[in-house]
Amino acid sequence: MTRTVCIGECMIEMAPTDTEGAFRMGFAGDTMNTAWYLRRLLGADHQVDYLTAIGTDSASQQMSAFLQQAGLGVDSILRRSDRTVGLYVIRLDNGERSFSYWRGQSAARTLAQDKAALNAALSGADYAYFSGITLAILPPEDRARLRDALAVFRANGGQVVFDPNLRPALWSDPQEMRDEIMAGAAVSTIILPSHEDEATWFDDRDPAATASRYAACGVQTVVVKNGSGPMLTCVDGVMTSHDPVTVQQVIDTTAAGDSFNAGFLASIIRGAALSGAVQNGAQVAAQVIQSRGALVDLT
Ligand code: ADP
Repeated sequence: MTRTVCIGECMIEMAPTDTEGAFRMGFAGDTMNTAWYLRRLLGADHQVDYLTAIGTDSASQQMSAFLQQAGLGVDSILRRSDRTVGLYVIRLDNGERSFSYWRGQSAARTLAQDKAALNAALSGADYAYFSGITLAILPPEDRARLRDALAVFRANGGQVVFDPNLRPALWSDPQEMRDEIMAGAAVSTIILPSHEDEATWFDDRDPAATASRYAACGVQTVVVKNGSGPMLTCVDGVMTSHDPVTVQQVIDTTAAGDSFNAGFLASIIRGAALSGAVQNGAQVAAQVIQSRGALVDLT
């Protein structure tokens, strides 16, 4: 039995349907997507909890019911009577998707207000998973509180897994993003960056530069995702390249990185070797990008 706590924001997703003006309501968000896939990939003897904050209104209750139905533990979810959950709308224009967000005041932004609640959620867990988006939505003092809680969790033997998921639009400026991401990396044991984003915002010339930069923070394991290209791992300073999975037709790359992380982590939790875990991550992501939407039924 292991317990993994995924930490971040789940939002209401309004996705267009074939009927003009009609949208389908769903739930998504980077860390929740990973938790959702992790739950499906692990057996019932592994627990996956989601830690976030939601409101007390009916939309928040629907979200909680959705998470519970997905098999995720919801006992650590905080409830705020003065806030509700964030929302985004997807628009399709000639096949191009664009996103509009209403999340500036979302309840999830309060998920790290209370040190005791963070410690209670992490107590006895084996893995904690968070992302750069988790950090981006928090006020600076709450970000530090979350990092401190993760550092204590790590010092007590917990594995801290971090996807930098760089989203400059959520930060006040790119330098703040870079500084906070590297501070997040410094409390982590496993980091799962995507090279393309890292090259754009950290000027990494190749995946090895991304791996070296994170390894220099004292992280044991770095796995650099790389679109359709070869992935690179760096474990205790040793770099290894991993072949990508060939995908004939990419339908929708939404949640490629999130589902990779779940496939990788599910294997690590089950005790697989690193190369097998990377292959499993790539296989899961390959399935996900051959279907539409963030949450895809795996075969
Ligand atoms: P993100 O979705 O976070 O931007 P990437 O684009 O690097 O991250 O994709 C994450 C992972 O998804 C890749 O490492 C790979 O395993 C898989 N993937 C993404 N795009 C493709 C593709 N075109 N062909 C095969 N695998 C892909």
